[in-house]
Amino acid sequence: MKMEGESSPLKRNLTEWRFSQYPKYILLPIDENHDQIRSNIKNVVFSEVTPRPLERNIRLVCASQDALTNILDMDPDMANREEFAEFIAGRKLPYGALPVAHRYGGHQYGLWVGQLGDGRSHILGEYVNRRGERWQIQLKGSGQTPYARVHDGRAVLRSAIREMIACEACHFLGIPSTRAAGLVVSDEAIVRDVYYNGCPRRERAAVVLRLSPNWFRFGSLEILSRTGEIAVLRQLSDFIIKEYFPDIQLSDENRFIRMFSEIAHKTLDLVAKWQGLGFTHGLLNTDNMSLLGLTMDFGPFGFVDSYDGGFVANCSDGEGRYALAKQPDVVVWNIGQLANALKPLLTSSQQVHMSHILKTLDTYCKNKILETFLMKIGLKEERWGDEQLVEKLLDMMQQTGADFTATFRQLAELEPSEMVSEIKLEEKWSLKRLSSHASWGCWLDQYRERLDKEAGVLPVNSRVVDCGVTAVDASSSGLFEDERRRRMLSANPVYVPRNWLLHEAIVDAEQDDYQKVRFLLEVLRNPFEVNPEAEKRGFSAQPPQWAYALKVSCSS
Ligand code: AMP
Ligand code: MG
Repeated sequence: MKMEGESSPLKRNLTEWRFSQYPKYILLPIDENHDQIRSNIKNVVFSEVTPRPLERNIRLVCASQDALTNILDMDPDMANREEFAEFIAGRKLPYGALPVAHRYGGHQYGLWVGQLGDGRSHILGEYVNRRGERWQIQLKGSGQTPYARVHDGRAVLRSAIREMIACEACHFLGIPSTRAAGLVVSDEAIVRDVYYNGCPRRERAAVVLRLSPNWFRFGSLEILSRTGEIAVLRQLSDFIIKEYFPDIQLSDENRFIRMFSEIAHKTLDLVAKWQGLGFTHGLLNTDNMSLLGLTMDFGPFGFVDSYDGGFVANCSDGEGRYALAKQPDVVVWNIGQLANALKPLLTSSQQVHMSHILKTLDTYCKNKILETFLMKIGLKEERWGDEQLVEKLLDMMQQTGADFTATFRQLAELEPSEMVSEIKLEEKWSLKRLSSHASWGCWLDQYRERLDKEAGVLPVNSRVVDCGVTAVDASSSGLFEDERRRRMLSANPVYVPRNWLLHEAIVDAEQDDYQKVRFLLEVLRNPFEVNPEAEKRGFSAQPPQWAYALKVSCSS
């Protein structure tokens, strides 16, 4: 309870809110020549550049209350103040701002494309919040930088909404992610050829206020390594270790290997979360891979509806390089590129060590994914046959087109008495679809038997010899049952930002009606809890038929 006279830790206006006087990034080389064109830049990590403010008719589309209060120490009322919208629009820079754009490179679709950099984002400064956490505050869509090349430096409203909702949703779904605090739109027109088919259209410019401890990517190190800027590569790597990997000593001669190993494992832990929630990033280029193991740069992503390992979220990804089931492999490949980037900092024996680590990553990732799926079906530890149990379930889902999110949630909601194949599954629309598979009854028997083993009702080494084995009375394991359901309900969300929900919200937002965007953001703050209003609107029902034909392009 707040004591009388004690001031709230939450700031009520921008005059009270200020950046850290010394952003740590000023310790890194920053190019101060504002007119420098990108191709001439070398030996720098940032370029100093101010945002180009949005001008016409700025308004707030939505704000994340959680990011505001728990990251930025801002009173939620701040979102209603004009100055908050002006801040995001790049028109009002808070005290202490030192805007920079970050220089990085990347492999896109498997090919080295050289230097990229923040073409339309500005890191404004660092904010140290009341918990002592240091956050880099970034605007995306805030105008051209020296890295913009021919592009306009802007972001369209639809992509800004998708980024805002998805990164907040990921956070609440338990997927490590960069965050977003707010989004503004203007009447400034920008032109995009959405499907790259020669039919450009006018859209409106928007800016997202993004938050992350840092915005470094695999490509941040790759660019320095590729161009032989080894002193800066070492400087940036040491900086990252010092600021973001406190368990690694700067005096440790194996520090780069340790950093690599931590990044690699964190990144694969992240991939396991993606797979477990059907999240398909859509554009896993190395410039979109965070060095902190966070999901970043949300573009043509998708949470799969009807399960399909071949699901490609990005309609520009013709070969399906970034399909859902390929994410683990492609991320391991990306980690290989990070390893290459660090090689100039390693002795030959350290390089051998690095290649040993690389060889273990596939297995590490596979095990993490299995662990995730076991949790989803309520099992704590792997036992013999579990991998096949999960594989069989996914096969049946793939073959019947059962919905990914709903299947696991509905499985979590099953009562033990319902775990018989003859049960009517009218309300459990996704399980109903799954139950059309010839192996469903057999799988359900095996699953129930496995749960009984977990509960201790059956000896561990007993196993189902035949489909249709009689059920063991599970009533004695009521406590286990409650715990299993609780665990499954907290591992399997009711709601994810499905493309059709985003699409409907965007259609309205393009007509200046932001209610659906705000409601979606609110529901996704508690994605594991049933929300009566969301239920009325069909958020966890079978998606409408048109949803399955939606296409998401990477034009943004
Ligand atoms: P992305 O596909 O959003 O990860 O962007 C790839 C690269 O293109 C990054 O360097 C971006 O900063 C840059 N980029 C994308 N769109 C724009 C734009 N409208 N203006 C300037 N740079 C852009
Ligand atoms: Mg990007």
